[in-house]
Amino acid sequence: MRRLGKYSIGLGDRFGRQGRAQLRALEMARGLGVEVAPVWNKSHREHTLLHSQPASVRREADEATAALGWPGDYHVDADHIRLATVAPFLETHDFFTLDIADFIGQPDGPDDAHAFITRHHDLASKLEIPGLDEPQSFSPEGLAVVVRRYLPAVREAGRIYRRIASARGAGSFITEISMDEVAAPQTPEELLVILTAVADEGIPLQTIAPRFSGLFAKGVDYQGDVAQLAGEVDRHLCVLRHARRALGLPADLKLSVHSGSDKLSLYGPLRRILRRHDAGIHLKTAGTTWLEELIGLCESGGDALAMVKEIHAGARGRLRELCGPYASVLALDPARLPPLETVAGWGGATFARALRHDPACPGYDPHLRQLLHVAYPLAGEMGARFLEALDRHAETVARNVTANIFERHLRPLFLDDRDAAA
Ligand SMILES: [Zn+2]
Repeated sequence: MRRLGKYSIGLGDRFGRQGRAQLRALEMARGLGVEVAPVWNKSHREHTLLHSQPASVRREADEATAALGWPGDYHVDADHIRLATVAPFLETHDFFTLDIADFIGQPDGPDDAHAFITRHHDLASKLEIPGLDEPQSFSPEGLAVVVRRYLPAVREAGRIYRRIASARGAGSFITEISMDEVAAPQTPEELLVILTAVADEGIPLQTIAPRFSGLFAKGVDYQGDVAQLAGEVDRHLCVLRHARRALGLPADLKLSVHSGSDKLSLYGPLRRILRRHDAGIHLKTAGTTWLEELIGLCESGGDALAMVKEIHAGARGRLRELCGPYASVLALDPARLPPLETVAGWGGATFARALRHDPACPGYDPHLRQLLHVAYPLAGEMGARFLEALDRHAETVARNVTANIFERHLRPLFLDDRDAAA
């Protein structure tokens, strides 16, 4: 089976220019003794909005790893694909994130659920899971509700998995299931039912992305109760450990956190929980790099700064259209955006400070950051003009991209207490 390292990170790169700059951050972590496998991911939604082809992501990953002589594994993730959208990714990708959100709660054959409950009647009795305070237990009615809710979705995952396996060959790719883009979080009990169904379907699942409580808004920090979230992750990890042993799921099955970029306040608590469980994690933080490109262009000043202002002005006029595809994952209040004329008068350093994810900085503006997070289609429309600006200012942009991934993500999630121990 294609293995995914204990720690891995899903890096996005809207325009395919920052492969090396991102990888350099992982090299720095590696130099400090922590191996994190890079996974380049770009969703069907991003490819559609930018009219890009999945093969371009594979080329970028191959090019970056070759250029830096990256000695470890790396992968290319078909992020959030469905049965209808998987085909263009089959040839070039080796990591597939099966998005089953639309199938949760869909009606399935009632006999299907009945047969599942009969087969797994132990779920309705008290099930001791090491590490969990209370035994997991469902009333027969409660179990039926959960099974009817999730079984059709896992069946769909089975269909997508088999489609990929028949095209690529079983064992030649990594399988993730994502359920993060739904309204309600999954409880650890529900996760157990889901994993039982996954094992039934014969899916060699390696990462699973549940919906956690709180809001994972695009590009800005976590909004919710961090302690509650930490407890949730802790219980999910107990369920995963149980699932690996009792259900025969792959030994490297781990949680995937679709961060929506930059959930900085979660990294410390997550690091401590992972250490306690000796557990791995896959962290997706994709959109963050596009914002660093803008920050680099701001710092470069002149035409580059003017281009960022042009993107900003365009985004103000197309707010509704740009936010539409991301409606459920934005906490953007248009009334709190700075006046257009104010931004038009900013110098590069001021604009960069407003965008850079430093919550302690008085100039930081989370609303502006979210607006520009979803404004990448405008840069796509600029085409060569935007890409040429990135190339002209490659050094300044790359410096920001690398520092962001290393300092704000890898260091707090994987390295911080190593520093303390050293
Ligand atoms: Zn996601």
